[in-house]
Amino acid sequence: MISSDAVELLKKEIPLEQDTLVLSNDAKTGLVLVDIVNGFCTLNSGNLAPQTPDKQIDGMVDESVKLAKEFCKKNWPVYALLDSHHPDIPEPPYPPHCIAGTDESKLVPALQWLENERNVTLRCKDCIDGFVGSMEKDGSNVFVNWVKANDIKVLLVVGICTDICVLDFVCSVLSARNRGFLTPLEDVVVYSNGCATFDLPVHVARNIKGALAHPQELMHHVGLYIAKSRGAKVVSQVSFGI
Ligand SMILES: [Zn+2]
Repeated sequence: MISSDAVELLKKEIPLEQDTLVLSNDAKTGLVLVDIVNGFCTLNSGNLAPQTPDKQIDGMVDESVKLAKEFCKKNWPVYALLDSHHPDIPEPPYPPHCIAGTDESKLVPALQWLENERNVTLRCKDCIDGFVGSMEKDGSNVFVNWVKANDIKVLLVVGICTDICVLDFVCSVLSARNRGFLTPLEDVVVYSNGCATFDLPVHVARNIKGALAHPQELMHHVGLYIAKSRGAKVVSQVSFGI
């Protein structure tokens, strides 16, 4: 396993300063929950779920639940992406996961109540990037329409994995915003404690054919760092102003 000293040393080479986000009624904010489904977050719930209790993932779920509750209380818009695959269509390089209609592609138990909330839009996606996964066959985009219909100026993003589905979604949103497709969206904010990634240490990956090592703490940091380098804001605290 990579030592924590080594992780700290690597982090120093790509230091990440994080801000605080204070949400107010002045700038309309939308919350995006990326793939907080059983297949990625609930113990022993499939090929890509944690096999042992995972602090980072559990912390991400707790923070997401807190935010979702607050957004629903205020009737602010929430967009929940759910990884969901047809059983016959693989998603290389990953093993089968989150097959549509199974518990793996459902929100974790602590968030299942969102299915009945009026301010929540659920979107099943069968690819890594939730922006692309929001495209319809006719070329329209459910996410773009959601931003416009709700007049969203600030987007707050949480979920899993920091360096995969969260990062790809954030990068696409930033490009779309910069091209003027997401007016009135201004800021894309990633909440670090509301994100998590999986752990596949190098000594384990070595024994799995074709697997890439994926040390959790380091890859989480790298994901946040790249998101910031592309133009997202990264915050370690979110609070609700008056
Ligand atoms: Zn998937």
